[in-house]
Amino acid sequence: SCSNPFEPSSFQHSTPRPTYSRKANATFLTLARNSDLAGVIRSMKQVEGRFNRDRHYPWVFLNDEPFTEECTSAVTSAKTHYGQIPRDQWVQPDFIDEERATKARKALSKIRGVFYADSVSYRNMCRFYSGFFYRQALLQDFKYYWRVEPDINYRCEIEYDPFLYMEDNNKAYGFTISVPEQKETTPTLWDTSMEFFNQNPQYLHPNNAMRFASKDGGKTWTRCTYWTNFEIGDLDFFRGSEGYNKYFEHLETAGGFYYERWGDAPMHGIAISLLLDRERIHHFDDIAYEHTGWEQCPDPLTPAYERGRCSCDYGNSMAVKWKR
Ligand code: GDP
Ligand code: MN
Repeated sequence: SCSNPFEPSSFQHSTPRPTYSRKANATFLTLARNSDLAGVIRSMKQVEGRFNRDRHYPWVFLNDEPFTEECTSAVTSAKTHYGQIPRDQWVQPDFIDEERATKARKALSKIRGVFYADSVSYRNMCRFYSGFFYRQALLQDFKYYWRVEPDINYRCEIEYDPFLYMEDNNKAYGFTISVPEQKETTPTLWDTSMEFFNQNPQYLHPNNAMRFASKDGGKTWTRCTYWTNFEIGDLDFFRGSEGYNKYFEHLETAGGFYYERWGDAPMHGIAISLLLDRERIHHFDDIAYEHTGWEQCPDPLTPAYERGRCSCDYGNSMAVKWKR
């Protein structure tokens, strides 16, 4: 199981919702296709209704194609920005041997239960979220991003400002749910990663969270990842970390985003756990979050549940299910 190794947060928010005299330099970030519009609007209504209606953080929408409709601006009173991803940061790079990549996709498709085994666009998306999201022009002036996908649900009120929590506590990365990555998608990811960190041990943070990724000091991988469709992160970390960017380059050169199906969740999981001081990683255990049936719901014995007017069931939490 990937039950979370971090201490439960001692952070207690006040009630009723505090009024802050300040805002963080932060934005929501949504990557979407034009065909995702309905799901994006559903997600925005969740975020706006549970949190942003009185915080007014802007939204950045990214697409590999031009957006056909910008009607998401009607769902928020905050500013909306629409950007197109540069082509070379999205499509499969030329150095990838397409014959080998095609063979790999076919082979992976024959294994039952592997999601997106045959999809090139999904691989583009995973590579983009691994190495390029934080380089987008629209994000350059922001410090924090909060990733929002189509068809997510926030099932409690978010009664404090998670961006300010990040800022006030010097957090660089926040997650809600941790999940194990499938073996079939990442047969060589761990070894390729260890190759990099063995060659470049200076990038391993002395107070890292290696124990999340490996129980035996790096020999084998727990396959634990932070489920990246929710993440709140410090863009300065991604932009400024030489280790992160060199690690991405190493993975890119190895080609596993296309020869296998390396996801951005396992990639972020390893990078965040090894490069950062673990004190800078935060489990938002009080945020009720659901996507594709996987859920985190706060314990009803905690203040977060009652004050949050939650409409979720603690028993459906992945952390609870995996303990059974
Ligand atoms: P899943 O949650 O792992 O099943 O993956 P999704 O299909 O939800 O994709 C993850 C995110 O990437 C979502 O925000 C999608 O809208 C977005 N996405 C996936 N594929 C593409 C694509 O080809 N183009 C664009 N612009 N966005 C994509
Ligand atoms: Mn999704």
